[in-house]
Amino acid sequence: MQILILGAGVIGITTAYELSKAGHDVTIIDRKSKPALETSYGNAGLIAPGHSYAWTTPKLPKNLFMSLFEKQRVFRFKFQWDLAMWRWGLQFIRQCTHKKMAENTQRKNRLCLYSQKMLHQLVDETGVFYHQNREGLIYIFRSAKSFQDGRKKLEMLQPIMKNLQLLNHKELIELEPALQWTQSEINGGIYCKTDETGSCHDFTIQLAEICRDQGVNFYFDTTVKQVKISGDKIEKVVSDKGDFKADQYVLACAAYSPKIARMVGDYLPIYPVKGYSFTVPIIDMEKAPKHGGIDEDNLLAFSLMGNRIRFTSVAEISGYDTSCTPSDFINMVKFSNSLFPDAFEYSKIEYWAGLRPMTPNGSPIVGRGKMTNLYYNTGHGHLGWTMCTGSARITADLLDGKKSEIDLEGMTLDTL
Ligand SMILES: Cc1cc2nc3c(=O)[nH]c(=O)nc-3n(C[C@H](O)[C@H](O)[C@H](O)COP(=O)(O)OP(=O)(O)OC[C@H]3O[C@@H](n4cnc5c(N)ncnc54)[C@H](O)[C@@H]3O)c2cc1C
Repeated sequence: MQILILGAGVIGITTAYELSKAGHDVTIIDRKSKPALETSYGNAGLIAPGHSYAWTTPKLPKNLFMSLFEKQRVFRFKFQWDLAMWRWGLQFIRQCTHKKMAENTQRKNRLCLYSQKMLHQLVDETGVFYHQNREGLIYIFRSAKSFQDGRKKLEMLQPIMKNLQLLNHKELIELEPALQWTQSEINGGIYCKTDETGSCHDFTIQLAEICRDQGVNFYFDTTVKQVKISGDKIEKVVSDKGDFKADQYVLACAAYSPKIARMVGDYLPIYPVKGYSFTVPIIDMEKAPKHGGIDEDNLLAFSLMGNRIRFTSVAEISGYDTSCTPSDFINMVKFSNSLFPDAFEYSKIEYWAGLRPMTPNGSPIVGRGKMTNLYYNTGHGHLGWTMCTGSARITADLLDGKKSEIDLEGMTLDTL
């Protein structure tokens, strides 16, 4: 079967890998000059089933409202006249109940665990190298209050993930000696031995090369402009470099997917949530962490990328703007330096901002909508790197008329 994939981020490339492995003739197009130059470029690198909590907590609506007045909040909202934002925002707010939060967490965790299994399979098959670090992740609580909240939240995942381990201050320092130099109080942590990290960008670039060797065709610098339909089928995709025809199509354009889905009459509840990251060289290995993790008080994620380290933070609902300036990173740099003082070379910092393609319930959208030959694999939010290999396999299975290996409730347009 001829398959055209729109979007060469980590989702498009993992889908191409699965589909070409299943024997299909795959073509992939992207408006950028290489794979993974948008959201999959500078993410935190965490593969974190042990942190697959839903973002939509009962406290979130108040936090977002307060951010209109306190601009430095980690979760923040900038007022805009954008109907798509308001439509999505109302659905997002409706998820902010205890019941929905527990359901959404369990669904995300199911996909994350499945995806991690698929990732290990893929790594065994291909030998792809992406600075993987399988030391586990540490979730650090500076204040007594955040530690208490963290323990409460843990009750949602602990029944499913038996390996989430509560650590007191002493145990945490024993596990991660770099924290002995931390310039703030630390009350304790949670350790998930099976969580891991790696560079999503390096992974995607290498996997794209493997796909190319398997016969996948790539068209870069090619922007989708229009989708022509005939009845309940896509007839062709019109781009600025000409038309593309296939038997089946997969849409993996992240926060831009709704704009393309609208051309075929489908509404996808996906909206961008901006995040910021910076990457710096490590100058003192002893003072740098061995594990990736999250500073839970500041929602500051970090992971090692070879001899560099990356920090990410902030969830900002502010439309499609991806610009950033050094002043956006003042707090992040301050928190990273107080956690691991004198470990990094801040004069060689690389700044980046990207758009998480968020759905209201935090899980991606897979399966079909109105078109019988269009499959969605999009809207992976803040855990797309963790979920990519699982949702790629699901998409390949669905396309081949097979049943998905996991329950897709809440991930398809008819069950949302
Ligand atoms: C700050 C930050 C930190 C994150 N940290 C983590 C983490 O630690 N762990 C984790 O699991 N996830 C994390 N994520 C989420 C993860 O990065 C995303 O979910 C994932 O990268 C989405 O992949 P994608 O392929 O859907 O999107 P993208 O990588 O954005 O790919 C979409 C592609 O579609 C192309 N495209 C769009 N429109 C068109 C068009 N009209 N024509 C042609 N091409 C088009 C784009 O050029 C792009 O290449 C983080 C995200 C951010 C922003």
